[in-house]
Amino acid sequence: LASSEVKKERSVIRISDTVAIGGPEVIIMAGPCSVESEEQIIESAKAVKAAGAHILRGGAFKPRTSPYSFQGLEEEGLKLLAKARDLTGLPFVTEVINPETVELVAEYSDILQIGARNSQNFALLKKVGQINKPILLKRGMAMTIQEFLMSAEYIMAEGNQSVILCERGIRTFETATRNTLDLSAIPVLKTKTHLPVVADPSHGTGNYHYVGPMSLAAIAGGADGLIIEVHPDPERASSDGPQSLKPKKFARLMEQMRKVAEAV
Ligand code: PEP
Ligand code: MN
Repeated sequence: LASSEVKKERSVIRISDTVAIGGPEVIIMAGPCSVESEEQIIESAKAVKAAGAHILRGGAFKPRTSPYSFQGLEEEGLKLLAKARDLTGLPFVTEVINPETVELVAEYSDILQIGARNSQNFALLKKVGQINKPILLKRGMAMTIQEFLMSAEYIMAEGNQSVILCERGIRTFETATRNTLDLSAIPVLKTKTHLPVVADPSHGTGNYHYVGPMSLAAIAGGADGLIIEVHPDPERASSDGPQSLKPKKFARLMEQMRKVAEAV
C-alpha cells in the first residue's frame, strides 16, 4: 500500500483547513520535547507560531529510556496542548505509547506520533491503523528502510492511509552525535513510497548546534517537512534540553529554511 509502484501520485495528507503535508509547502512542526506546564506550552506555541511554524509538537506520554525520568503529564498534557491550539490556531502532534491510550490521544490531537522505540510495536501500529487521524511514524533507531516501510504497511493494512514517515536518526558507531541522521533515507523513501517524508534533526543530532545545518540539508534533500524541538528555557527542560532551540534561534532558522525551500 505504501509503494510508489502501486500508487504513482504522491500522497498529500491534510491536517487542518490550511495545513497539508506532502504538497508544495515544506511543513514545520515545532515545540518542546515534553509538555511541562501551561505556561511553558503556551509560551512555546506562541513563539513557534510567531516564527511561522505550521504545527505544534509536545509530548504528553513520554517513552523514556529510564523509568526514573519524567514520564509526561499524560491527559493533563493533552488538555494543555488543546488549550495552546485554541489560543494559536496551530494543530498539534503528540506521541501515543500504547494501544490502550490510542483513543484518548486521538480525541485531543491532530496527528498521533509513533516514536522510534515503538516503531515495531505491531499491536500499537494496528491500533492506530484503525483510527481516522494522520500518523507520524518515526523510524526505529536500528531499522532498515525496508523494515520502516513494513511498519507503515501495518498501519495502512488496517485502513488508515494517512501515514507520514519521519527519519529521526539511526544508531551507528559514531558518538559525536546522539544518533546519525540518515539524510539519504529521504530521497530513498521518496523513491520507494508515495507517503510524505519528514526529518527530525533534533533527535537526529542530539545537539542544538547541529539542528540548523541538518534542517537545511533535509529540505535540500527533498523533505516534505521537519519536526524540531524548541523550548523557551532549554537549560531547565524536563527532557531533551541539549537538543532544543531557543525561540530566537528557531525564528532565524525559519528564515533560512524558507530560502532553501524556495531554491529546491
Ligand atoms: C520525541 O519526539 O520526543 C521522541 C521521543 O522521539 P523519538 O521517538 O524519535 O526518540
Ligand atoms: Mn524529545
